[in-house]
Amino acid sequence: MAQLNNRTILITGASSGIGEASARELADTGANLFLGARRTDRLSALAEELGERTGWRALDVTDATSFDAFVAAAEDRFGQIDALVNNAGVMPLSPLASLKREEWKRMIDVNILGVLNGIASVLPRFMAQQDGHVINVASIAAHMVVPTAAVYCGTKHAVRAITEGLRLEHDEIRSTLISPGVVATELGHDISDPALAADLVEWRKKSLTPDAIARAVRFALEQPAGVDINEVIVRPTAAGM
Ligand code: NDP
Repeated sequence: MAQLNNRTILITGASSGIGEASARELADTGANLFLGARRTDRLSALAEELGERTGWRALDVTDATSFDAFVAAAEDRFGQIDALVNNAGVMPLSPLASLKREEWKRMIDVNILGVLNGIASVLPRFMAQQDGHVINVASIAAHMVVPTAAVYCGTKHAVRAITEGLRLEHDEIRSTLISPGVVATELGHDISDPALAADLVEWRKKSLTPDAIARAVRFALEQPAGVDINEVIVRPTAAGM
């Protein structure tokens, strides 16, 4: 589409699931794509498949230095940054009574701090160029709370608040929250409670494929500069919640 031709879009968590699907969805738009995650073998294979407009670099979103270097590398390669899709996330669910403090911290570090690190790395550039778009992938967990997901929901509620705060503070920057329902991806592979891991298999029986969310990402990106898609919720038609 004309709006994305030669624009540079950065995607975190592009080594699988929704991030990978978003890269595939955007590959025919004429945009330059720059992909980040820790599993660089997957990034490199995907970039090779998508062609010369796609670059990549190892990224740990919890590390501000890593995020700054990721954004600088994208700028070196393509000359400008136009949009950041903060998609990386983790979901090791457990009841609070399990006291899985390390898992709580990991969710807060990746899902909240990772988003803030991304905003910090692009915001000065977006302010200087008076243009830019941040898309944060939250979840229906940003809009509701369920048992075993108190911390995960807390992180996604935080992402929703941060996205709205960014929108209110910056007239020149577009700010979008995309909230998927259940999607068939690798998310939750790190659930350490066997009963909850089995529940996840059940939930996934009514799930979207990642391309459904990728199309929402593309829809938000393709709007003209004066149009900001603030929030999108995408659920499987058959799902109750
Ligand atoms: P996946 O597990 O398939 O993808 C998660 C991605 O996040 C991977 O590419 C992973 O890459 C990356 N990631 C995790 N930790 C880090 C880190 N520290 N630094 C950089 N990248 C990291 O799951 P999804 O595609 O489903 O998840 C994408 C987003 O969608 C998440 O924010 C998730 O919360 C959200 N979501 C997903 C839903 C679902 O049902 N699947 C529903 C609602 C929201 P690597 O391990 O290589 O670093």
